[in-house]
Amino acid sequence: MTTQPAIWRASVLTLFPDMFPGPLGVSLAGKALAAGLWTLEARDIRASATDKHRSVDDTPAGGGPGMVLRADILAAAIDAADIAPGRPRLLMSPRGQPLTQSRVTELAEGPGPMIVCGRFEGVDQRVIDARGLEEVSIGDYVLSGGEIAAMALLDACVRLLPGVMGKQASATDESFSAGLLEYPQYTRPQEFEGRQIPEILVSGDHAKVAAWRLAQSEALTRARRPDLWAIRTRQTKNTTDG
Ligand code: SAH
Repeated sequence: MTTQPAIWRASVLTLFPDMFPGPLGVSLAGKALAAGLWTLEARDIRASATDKHRSVDDTPAGGGPGMVLRADILAAAIDAADIAPGRPRLLMSPRGQPLTQSRVTELAEGPGPMIVCGRFEGVDQRVIDARGLEEVSIGDYVLSGGEIAAMALLDACVRLLPGVMGKQASATDESFSAGLLEYPQYTRPQEFEGRQIPEILVSGDHAKVAAWRLAQSEALTRARRPDLWAIRTRQTKNTTDG
């Protein structure tokens, strides 16, 4: 008996389900969604509210500004989503582990995550602990809600799913795939406002093109991202040391 490969699933828990699919409904991700290469379910956290005002938040214990998403409401929403064991359970959060291309690849290779989008001041710590949520950040700045962060994460994953990108090779060459930033790209016209496409790229010499691109990637990474460059040089040293 052959088992069909399971379709990559994204389940998003949000107070604003209308924001989805949003930008994920167009272009590459949108076409893949329409083609059934992945599925997206946006679930309304408010559907798990119990009081007549359907409130989901309350004032922070200990005082301070803003409101906090209640543990009981969010836990009920997570439980109602009935997420299979083994599916990653993420919480978008500026305190989380910064998202990297390698984590994105890992998520794309799995069954697809459940993602909780926070709002207000954040969520009650006890639901993070009780439901084992993995906090993920998309960068050191604060958004007003987790939805745009979740979309960024999903977009990065979906483009890596089999059949989504036209040419599978496009993912192996780009920024971060080898710990380097991507080399500069050019296309027609040959001359733009007096600027030419670098000679080597139109030479037809594939080995020279590859060497030029690697050199450009290295120079860019070194200049713009000393943090990535330090990791890269450490790795290269380890490989040559055996
Ligand atoms: N008071 C919180 C910020 C809350 S922002 C703090 O200082 O850490 C409201 C929600 O937006 C968060 O719960 C989270 O879901 C989302 N969010 C904000 N910035 C984010 C980021 N950089 N990465 C991922 N999610 C983020």
